[in-house]
Amino acid sequence: MSTPDAAPSALIVHAHPEPASFTSAQMATAAQALRDAGYRVDVLDLYADAWAPTLVRDEFAGVEGHFKPQAEQMRAVRDGTLDAAVQAHLDRLLAADLLVLSFPMWWFSLPAILKGWVDRVFVMGAVFGGDHGLFEDAALVGKRAMLLFTTGGSRESFRPGGAFGPMDDFLFHIHRGMLEFVGYQVLDPVVTYGAAHMNDQERAAALDVVRESVKRVATDSRSRDVSLV
Ligand SMILES: Cc1cc2nc3c(=O)[nH]c(=O)nc-3n(C[C@H](O)[C@H](O)[C@H](O)COP(=O)(O)OP(=O)(O)OC[C@H]3O[C@@H](n4cnc5c(N)ncnc54)[C@H](O)[C@@H]3O)c2cc1C
Repeated sequence: MSTPDAAPSALIVHAHPEPASFTSAQMATAAQALRDAGYRVDVLDLYADAWAPTLVRDEFAGVEGHFKPQAEQMRAVRDGTLDAAVQAHLDRLLAADLLVLSFPMWWFSLPAILKGWVDRVFVMGAVFGGDHGLFEDAALVGKRAMLLFTTGGSRESFRPGGAFGPMDDFLFHIHRGMLEFVGYQVLDPVVTYGAAHMNDQERAAALDVVRESVKRVATDSRSRDVSLV
C-alpha cells in the first residue's frame, strides 16, 4: 500500500493481441482517467511483452521427481529463486494499490494469456498460503481490484433469463476464485457490451462511460454491490 501522502498506484494488466482494438482503447482511456485522478499507472501489456502463460517445470530450479507446482512456488519464494520474469511481475503487482485486469471476454472468461498470468504470478507463498492465509487472511488485503472488459454479446444476452445467462455467474470464478482469494476487495466491473456492433458515436459514448466509471473508482473506496450491470 502507498503511504498516506504518496500517490496511489494502479497496475493495469492488459490482454488484447490488437493495439488498435476497442479493448485497447478502453484500457488507454482507463489509464488516462487514473492518471488524471492522481494515480501512478503501470501498464503491463501481455501480448506486447510476449508473456509466456504456461506454468512449467523448467521455470523452477532443481525440481526432482513428481512436479508439484504450488510446492515449488512456496520453495522458490522461501529460497528467493522465483523465475526472474515472474518475480518482476510479482513486484509490480505487490507495488499496486489497485489492480485492473483489461481484456476481451473469451469463452465466458479471460483470454488464456491472462489466465496464465494469474497462474504464474499469483504465487503461492507470496500472495496467499505459506505465511498468509486465504481471502481475508491473504497477502493483498487492503488493496482493490477490478475487471475492465468487452464482450461480443449484448447487455441483454447477459441478463438473468438472457441467451447467455447472468454475467455475475461468469465472473464468479474470477472475482471469488482469483481476486478475493488473494485478498483483494473487488470493485464493480466496467463492461462494454457488443463493442464490435456499435457505430462510432456509440463507441465514443462507451469510452466516456469507461472514463467516468474509472474516475469514480479512483475517488471512491467502496467495494462492489450485488448487481453488476
Ligand atoms: C476466442 C474468442 C472467444 C470469445 N468468446 C466470447 C464469449 O464467451 N462471450 C462473448 O460475449 N464474446 C466472446 N467473444 C467475442 C469478443 O468478446 C469480442 O470480439 C470482443 O470483446 C470485442 O472487442 P475488441 O476490442 O476485440 O473489438 P474490435 O473488433 O477490436 O473493436 C471494435 C471496433 O472498435 C473500433 N475502435 C477501436 N478503437 C476505437 C476508439 N478509440 N474509438 C472508437 N472505436 C474504436 C475498432 O476499429 C473496431 O471497429 C470471443 C472472441 C474470441 C476471439
